[in-house]
Amino acid sequence: MSGGALIVGAGQAGFQVACSLRQAGYDGAVTVLGDERHAPYGRPALSKERLKPESELQYLRPESFFAAQRIDLRIGTSAVRVDAAGRRLHLESGEVLDYDQLVLATGATPRRLPVPGGDLAGIAPLRTAEDAERLEQRLGATARLVVVGGGFVGLEVAASARARGIAVHVLEAQDRLLARALSAPMSAHLLDVHEQAGVVVSRRSVVERFVDDGAGAVSGVVLADGATVAADTVVVGIGVVPNTLLAQTAGLAVDDGIVVDRSLRTADPAIWAIGDCARFPTVDGALVRIESVQNATDQARAAAASIVAGAGTYDAVPWFWSVQHEQRLQIAGLSTGHDRAVSRVANDGLSVFCFRGDELLAVESVGRPKDHMAARKLLAAGVRVDHGQAADPDFDLKTLVP
Ligand code: FAD
Ligand code: NDP
Repeated sequence: MSGGALIVGAGQAGFQVACSLRQAGYDGAVTVLGDERHAPYGRPALSKERLKPESELQYLRPESFFAAQRIDLRIGTSAVRVDAAGRRLHLESGEVLDYDQLVLATGATPRRLPVPGGDLAGIAPLRTAEDAERLEQRLGATARLVVVGGGFVGLEVAASARARGIAVHVLEAQDRLLARALSAPMSAHLLDVHEQAGVVVSRRSVVERFVDDGAGAVSGVVLADGATVAADTVVVGIGVVPNTLLAQTAGLAVDDGIVVDRSLRTADPAIWAIGDCARFPTVDGALVRIESVQNATDQARAAAASIVAGAGTYDAVPWFWSVQHEQRLQIAGLSTGHDRAVSRVANDGLSVFCFRGDELLAVESVGRPKDHMAARKLLAAGVRVDHGQAADPDFDLKTLVP
C-alpha cells in the first residue's frame, strides 16, 4: 500500500483525525486501523444510556460516511510494531503498511485490581462496547452491585444501576469521591447526590479479595478492615493506563503516555500522538495527559491541521462532563494544584471556582451551564475573576468575557 496518513486506533481521536484531515484538504490516502470489532463509537454512552435495557451502541457515523470521505476503515486490525526508520507499520496479521504520517491514537486500558479472586466471573471493567453489553445483560439479573472506585466510571455506573432499582455500594480508597479530578466541595456535593439516590458509599475502603460463590462467580468483596460486602456483580473502575507499547517499538519517549511537543508531534517528525495515550505540554510547560472526549477531539483537529499546514500549537482549554442521577456536572479547566475553592451556591445549582492564589484554574458546575460556558471563555482569555465575583451567584461572568 502507498503511504499517506496511517492512524492507529479507531476511537474518538482516531476517528476525528481522519475526518479532520479530509476537512483540511488532505488528499493522500487516509487509513484508520482499529483492533476492536466495531466502527468508531462513543464511549460516554457506555456508562449512561447503554446501561438501560434495550439500548443500542451509538456509532459516531454510519459506515457509508467512511467510503464517502475516502477513509479506509479497517476494524479488527491490530498494529504490533513501528519501523520508524523505514516508515512502516507491522500488523498482527503479518501485513506491513507504509506511511508518510503516522498518528498514534491508541487510547487507554483499564487498570486491573491485583487482588485474590480478581478473575472470578461477574467482576468486570467498563471500557468497550462488549464490556457494556455484558454489563447491561448482567444488570438484569443483579440485585446487589458493588463498584470499586469512586471515579467517573464507578459513579456513572452506580447512577445507571440505581435507576434500574439495583442496590449499589461504591468502594472508594480515598477519603472523598473523584479526589483527583474535583475540588472538595464538588466531591461533597456528589456524595450527597449519590446518597440521596440510595447509593451506599464507603470511603477509605481498600479491597483485599473477592469471595467465590463456589461456582467460580463473585459473591462478595472482603475489605482490608475485615468487613465483607455482598455482591452479585462487581464493576472495577480504578483508572486507566495509556496504551504505549506501539510507541515503544518505535523508540519514542514514553512517560505515563506518549510524550509529544506542543504541536502533538513526537520526537520523530512523522509520528504524532493524540487523545488518552498522549502526554503533552500545557501553556505553562507542565506535561499532562487528559482522558476526555474534548481532549481527544480537539487534539485530533489540531494534529490534522499541523499535518496539512505545518506544526501549530495545541492550547485548547480542557472541559469535561459527566451525568449522574440526572445531574449534569460540567468542568472547565484543570483544578490540579488549586489551593482555594470558592463555592457559588444558587437555587438552581452549584459552581465551584478553583484558584491557585488569584489565578483561576478551573470551574466545576452542576445545574449552571451558563457559568460553565462563561468559564471556558474566561479561562481561554486568561481573564482575572476575583473571589467575590466567583462566590456571587448573581454576578454574570459573561460581563468579564472580552
Ligand atoms: P479510545 O477511545 O480508547 O480509542 C483508542 C482505540 O485504539 C481503541 O479502540 C483501542 O482498542 C485501539 N487500539 C489500541 N492499540 C491499538 C493497536 N495497536 N492497533 C489497533 N488499534 C489499537 N469522556 C468525556 O469527556 N465525557 C464522558 O462522559 C465520558 N464518558 C466515558 C464513559 C466510559 C464508560 C468510558 C470508558 C470513557 C468515557 N469518557 C468520557 C472518556 C472518553 O471516552 C475517552 O477519553 C476517549 O474515548 C478517548 O479517546 P481515544 O481515541 O484517545 O481513545
Ligand atoms: P478515574 O481515574 O476517573 O477514577 C478512578 C478512581 O478509582 C479514582 O478515584 C481512584 O483514586 C480510585 N481508585 C484507584 N485505585 C483504587 C482501589 N484499589 N480501590 C478503590 N478505588 C481506587 O478512572 P475510571 O476508572 O473511573 O474511568 C476510566 C476512564 O474513563 C477515565 O479516563 C475516565 O476519565 C473515563 N471516564 C470519563 C467519564 C466522564 O468524563 N464523564 C465517565 C466515565 C469514564 P486515585 O485517584 O487515588 O487513584
